Amino acid sequence: MNSFTDNLRKIEPYVPGEQSKEKDIVKINANENPYPPSPKAVEALKSFNTDSLRFYPNANATVLKEALAEYYGVEVENVFVGNGSDDVLALAFQSFFCSDKPIVYPDITYSFYPVWCELFNIPFKTYPLDKDFRINVEDYREQNGGVVIPNPNAPTSLCEGEQFIRTLLSYNTDSVVIVDEAYVDFGGYSSVALTKEYENLLVCGTFSKSRSLAGMRIGFAIGSKTLISVLEAVKNSYNSYTVDSLSIAMGIASLEDDGYFKSTINKVIATRSRVTNELRALGFEVLDSSSNFILVTHSDYSMKEYFEFLKSKKVFIRYFSLPRIDKYVRITIGTDGEMDVFLAETKRFLEEK
Ligand code: PMP
Repeated sequence: MNSFTDNLRKIEPYVPGEQSKEKDIVKINANENPYPPSPKAVEALKSFNTDSLRFYPNANATVLKEALAEYYGVEVENVFVGNGSDDVLALAFQSFFCSDKPIVYPDITYSFYPVWCELFNIPFKTYPLDKDFRINVEDYREQNGGVVIPNPNAPTSLCEGEQFIRTLLSYNTDSVVIVDEAYVDFGGYSSVALTKEYENLLVCGTFSKSRSLAGMRIGFAIGSKTLISVLEAVKNSYNSYTVDSLSIAMGIASLEDDGYFKSTINKVIATRSRVTNELRALGFEVLDSSSNFILVTHSDYSMKEYFEFLKSKKVFIRYFSLPRIDKYVRITIGTDGEMDVFLAETKRFLEEK
């Protein structure tokens, strides 16, 4: 017997960090920023003219693109914006990965990439990270249909520098190279300047992490006019208005408040180095993070048990039940107060186990 369900799409979706409704939890599992958005962005929300919501947003969110172009020292035609960087990346996959050859990316990496490949029927191939969890650039010499890497990589937290990116681009002149810089503001190397030299380089960014606006869903990409115009054409073939009017207003206000932006980043970086040192003193191995999270393991303890113990104490971190990283946990850097609770419960775990 045939059924209408035979023709429904079957797909294994991406699973984001758990969003608990519980009160009084320390939520350091989804790489969110522990500090509020810029007071200027909050003011933009409070003074927002709700009558303007009758109208569609600014066409192609050009005013937000102009603010980003000024911030990054590029032309407005070099900027694309979307509904979070997941939207921008999903559009970039559809726009640039149309070859029969597989696209390539590291294993371990952001677990959304294989989901988009499945959704858009894009063949892919992965290259394992080396024993120190670094990307081996020599793997990326082979012919491919495109390259995508997060830099810093997630969930390893490790960042590659300019030489690495230039080598990667020198090996890949016939396909588009996407560098996903979701976490770059926390001390990583940004390839934005290289987009002026390499027409096939697209750099993606987000307001979700360093700008504390995950709930507003603002993502962007910077690249050559050729790449950006294709992204625009594909976006305008499925949804003309992916960034709403309020997000545009808050995004612009956030970009105008560089002092606040830098001060919250510096606080996260200072807390990251303190927590890294304290965990190392307790015998944990902690990778050298350039992100707002750390990847951590301990040779004497099961990280799954550690994750479950912390959860029972209302401290939410992230455990991935995946080959190679199932001996690690990923911990987002929260406020100093949150990290003190986390460290106190960590000590309790070590004593009790
Ligand atoms: N890239 C990476 C590597 C990420 O970890 C995330 C967050 N899950 C994103 C992109 C997407 O972030 P957003 O859609 O909130 O901009």
